Amino acid sequence: MSRTPANYTPSFDPATLLSHAGDPILDDLGSIVPAISPATTFVRDANYNLKDSQYSYLRSGTPNWRTFETLMTRLEGGFDSRLFASGMAAASSVFQGLLPGDHIVIPHVMYHGLRDWLRDFTERWRLTISEYKAGDIGSLRSTVAARPTALVWVETPANPSMEITDIAAAVDVAHGAGAMCAADSTLSTPLVTRPIDFGVDFVMHSATKYLNGHSDVLGGIVTCARDSDWWNAIVEHRTGGGAVAGTFEAWLLVRGMRTLDVRLARAMENAAALADHLQHDDAVEAVLYPGLPSHPGHDVACAQMRGGFGAMLSILVRGDADAARRVAGATRVFMPATSLGGVESLIEHRASVERPDSPVPKNLLRLSIGIESASDLIDDLTQALRQSVR
Ligand code: PLP
Repeated sequence: MSRTPANYTPSFDPATLLSHAGDPILDDLGSIVPAISPATTFVRDANYNLKDSQYSYLRSGTPNWRTFETLMTRLEGGFDSRLFASGMAAASSVFQGLLPGDHIVIPHVMYHGLRDWLRDFTERWRLTISEYKAGDIGSLRSTVAARPTALVWVETPANPSMEITDIAAAVDVAHGAGAMCAADSTLSTPLVTRPIDFGVDFVMHSATKYLNGHSDVLGGIVTCARDSDWWNAIVEHRTGGGAVAGTFEAWLLVRGMRTLDVRLARAMENAAALADHLQHDDAVEAVLYPGLPSHPGHDVACAQMRGGFGAMLSILVRGDADAARRVAGATRVFMPATSLGGVESLIEHRASVERPDSPVPKNLLRLSIGIESASDLIDDLTQALRQSVR
């Protein structure tokens, strides 16, 4: 009897699917992990046919990308996915479906790199852009009502101040106005939230973060809910624009995905323990974490996040920007560095890295929680706060 690889068995739980990521195998040897196919070009037979019409030249597709894309499509419950060279390349591909004169609506708080790029891009490409208050559906509704809108962008939880947006409500507003709705779900991962279940047209991730999990690969992915002209524009942009991922990077992403379920579960458990502890620390003015009942988006988070509330949290230090920077400099386990989603915990003073007009409070420290012991993380941050906040 031949075995059916886990990836072909529809009833399996994501944990099972992930630990077998890369099945079915690419070679004929029975390898338990996928092979790497580094070829940039694929040979044709005597009739000038390709072995597999998906693969003719590396810039348009290669088996290692497809393995990751197929896995993500399955996890997100979507129609199809495309891997890009970075999260920014993935996100910016979604905006390629716009036409000159279109109006787009984005949250005021979101990943700053994308917000800044959009402000520049929209100006140069004669698009208009409006901003709504992250997490505030009333603000989104009035912003969309103000002028015809082509695309609504949602990021939940929002990086770095952790606002939660009700995805289904945002989709209602967007679709009600004839706009598409896309979600950056990087901070949630498909194990915690599946935005397509709530109606979005596109979901995007920086795969550099949790999906990879080891801080050693840059990548991004877009998954669509259904086939459309807009999706075709994204696909064509990847091939034509050429912002593609390397083969080895795609292989590493699949390898990282095999442990996503356990990495994320541990990191989310640590984040919850840390948030609970920090809310009682006098050196902390506020803990921004959707898992706390006091968080304004907690009820929505309970409804649209599963298994935990993500592994990111931010704190407002009692003090100014200098005090916050001192805390980041005094940690021993947390490493002061940008990025998130790796197995090691990171701490970052966001106002130091965002543009001067950033809405992020000057005393905000963003914490990406890893898989260390929760008590070491708590002790580390407590000693850093003690010596830095006066
Ligand atoms: N979206 C979010 C929420 C992010 O945090 C980031 C990067 O930090 C990006 C998108 C961009 O991803 P990348 O750095 O892989 O281009």
